[in-house]
Amino acid sequence: MNDSDFRSLGLAESLLSTLAEEGYASPTPIQQKTIPSLLAGKDLLGVAQTGTGKTAAFALPILQRLAAFPARPEPRAARVLVVAPTRELAAQIDESFGTYGRRFRFSRACVFGGVGKNPQIKALSRGVDVLTATPGRLLDLHGEGYIRLDRVETVVLDEADRMLDMGFIHDVRRIVALLPKKRQTLLFSATMPRDIAVLASSILDNPTRVDVEPEKPTVDKVDQHILHVRKENKKDLLAHLLRKADVRRAVVFTRTKHGANRLSAALGAEGISSEAIHANKSQNARIRALDGFKRGEIRVLVATDLAARGIDVDGITHVFNYELPNEPETYVHRIGRTARAGASGSALSFCDAEERPLLRQIERLLGRPVPVEADHPYVSAVSTVSAESPAAPAGMRKVMPSRTMRSRNFRSSSSDRGTDNRNPWKPRQPMR
Ligand code: AMP
Repeated sequence: MNDSDFRSLGLAESLLSTLAEEGYASPTPIQQKTIPSLLAGKDLLGVAQTGTGKTAAFALPILQRLAAFPARPEPRAARVLVVAPTRELAAQIDESFGTYGRRFRFSRACVFGGVGKNPQIKALSRGVDVLTATPGRLLDLHGEGYIRLDRVETVVLDEADRMLDMGFIHDVRRIVALLPKKRQTLLFSATMPRDIAVLASSILDNPTRVDVEPEKPTVDKVDQHILHVRKENKKDLLAHLLRKADVRRAVVFTRTKHGANRLSAALGAEGISSEAIHANKSQNARIRALDGFKRGEIRVLVATDLAARGIDVDGITHVFNYELPNEPETYVHRIGRTARAGASGSALSFCDAEERPLLRQIERLLGRPVPVEADHPYVSAVSTVSAESPAAPAGMRKVMPSRTMRSRNFRSSSSDRGTDNRNPWKPRQPMR
């Protein structure tokens, strides 16, 4: 394991061993730029988003500094405070501290809304080294006297632009006002809208600024394909694809919560077990589903965009866009769930006739067409049977491309034009 790059950033031996165990061969760009300056105690403005390795970029130096300046946290106080917009992200950050800090003796707690307060109050009562929180619940607990923020040494505001979008910016300002003046402050934001730039300049003291190009490199590693399919055939096509052995861990995106429920139930009826996660599910149900997914007990997660934001699970082999998103940026975000941490991954997007305008938007954003599925191994089973063949299993006939799909396929896929005669997804001759 080559840890020399991490070593050159000034990280302690114990952290280097943990990183080697985690399989991190070398630091990501944001880690390279951020870790030395954070170890030196500087403030930071990080223009970066999830998927760039930013959690380790701040968690590693924070852990090292906690160990370098040992102090017992006071009752109901936290030495490090991380504020994140969503429960899922907060839980993931908290877990990352646990992972990276497994060789350190330190305490941590995670608080967010939507679940009972008592366990959180108990966890805070003796004080913690690292507290990860969503803004609303943190202020509630503060207002009720269960946490004091005047002992915070380092504060991280993560996904600041999302906090702005979600209407938390006022809460964030209130939180910052409760912190001691002398502190180390880190602010991460994927974008820099004016309100965030103003907030940053008012709370950061001579920060190091780090910008990383986020989504593109991630998305470039994703093997993307479009499958043109009639709306009524999507379910059968999905079931067929999910049965493939190399679909080891998959997220299926739907546009609505009800759609996610219905699809998960329909897959169940086909003998494919899955869990739906969306905002109507209780917090505990969402956490259970995510945990089961991480542990590999749940192979297929059917998710809406909001619930899936920040899903940071390694080893997602496939993302299925059962329905294309209305916002093209969401497509990039969705497919970035796979091909993480240097792995490769597949994104298969179903597009029915009504969704073609959405596909065009996505392709405009990407600056190139998404290849149309033709030779992909997943449809090879479908491809090698002809629609008319009596040998074709009943369910498969339904997923054969329609006449219009075939002709579109012929027109839009430049790489596969008329070369493979065995593949009925491609026309053997022009359709008209
Ligand atoms: P983040 O941007 O913090 O959400 O991290 C994205 C993913 O990259 C997580 O799954 C991390 O476990 C993984 N990761 C972070 N740093 C590295 C690294 N240096 N090498 C490999 N994987 C990493």
